[in-house]
Amino acid sequence: MARGPDVGDLLDPNAPGPVVTGVVVRRISNVFWVRAPGAAAGTTAETEYACSLRARMRKEQIDIRVGDRVRISNLDGVNVTALITEVLERTNTLPRPPIANVDQVIVVFAASQPEFSSHLLDRFLVLIQMSGLPAAVVINKRDLVSEDSLSALVGSYRALGYPVMATSARQGDVEGLVSLLAGKVTVFAGPSGVGKSSLLNALDPRLSLKEGEVSSRLGTGRHTTTFASLHAIGGGLVADTPGYSHLEFPDWPPEELGWLFPEMVPWIPRCPLSKCQHDSEPDCAVKDRAEIAPTRFESYLRFLDELRRAHDRAMSSTTKVESATKMTGGGESARRLVRIDADQREDSRRVTRQRLAELAAKAASGELDEEELDDMAT
Ligand code: GDP
Ligand code: ZN
Repeated sequence: MARGPDVGDLLDPNAPGPVVTGVVVRRISNVFWVRAPGAAAGTTAETEYACSLRARMRKEQIDIRVGDRVRISNLDGVNVTALITEVLERTNTLPRPPIANVDQVIVVFAASQPEFSSHLLDRFLVLIQMSGLPAAVVINKRDLVSEDSLSALVGSYRALGYPVMATSARQGDVEGLVSLLAGKVTVFAGPSGVGKSSLLNALDPRLSLKEGEVSSRLGTGRHTTTFASLHAIGGGLVADTPGYSHLEFPDWPPEELGWLFPEMVPWIPRCPLSKCQHDSEPDCAVKDRAEIAPTRFESYLRFLDELRRAHDRAMSSTTKVESATKMTGGGESARRLVRIDADQREDSRRVTRQRLAELAAKAASGELDEEELDDMAT
């Protein structure tokens, strides 16, 4: 799909008025809300413009996501509309929710109810780092535990270098979380029931998410992908849909897992074996010398085992695909199979576009229910 430099060519040099840069914060069908500095001279307040795409960008099906930084022109301060003329280059995109330019993922856990699980927190932290994003931790429901056990918990993860804050959404004690948000695009993650929706509501009552609403989208099937929105909170932008609802690790070389455990990192280069997995290798510097909390090392070994098994499975299925290709005679017939597959994908995209158009019409007339909104994203 055409992006980047090609898009710049579409800028209309004759577009009237100023051209400003903003962030896509919401999308419904082909309307994109872009948060950008106000058009009126002398204002610094930000405005959310309802924007359409330049015709050529629409025709070329430029892929624009919530979180994308865009240039907008034709700013109309009365109707609060504008035209997107260019998409700036992305630094990253999260597949679920589909958000671009994410700066950090905040993992929310409860100090209690549900019972705190360091293994589950470690899994989230590893998953987030595997996608190349910085992680921070919020321990919510601090009202349910003693100050001592809370500070032990907070301290143990702070010592690893992660920013950690404690909150109580119930008591409106969320300043620690606010301090993490300024100037950043943030996605929440964490198990259900820890208070993600409650925290979002405490941060901005206008969101009025039903408690449990965020987590009800975490299951499998139709609820796994939604059009997330970004909300301006605490000087940053926060996604209203959590990420990392699928807790399986991606394909990741087992010998590189150690790099995602900060307390192991300084010792890894001192292992005599270059691909040491810090398990049963002799003279392993990590095992012998790093100070690793027992629960952390247990997490490490569990994840290592998972990655090894996934790696073995991947190896054996590659072999199967290879032999299947040989059986079809390889060459032309294999290429034909690939082509059919591509045609089918194009068909399904066409059907999706058709369905989106119908849904957009329904949305405009206010007939849409939430399930259908969820479906729009799939
Ligand atoms: P989510 O699934 O992560 O979105 O969690 P919810 O926001 O739905 O919260 C789950 C339950 O925990 C609800 O009953 C909330 O009222 C409760 N809850 C949320 N935050 C707190 C808190 O700080 N302290 C206490 N005691 N309960 C909380
Ligand atoms: Zn080692």
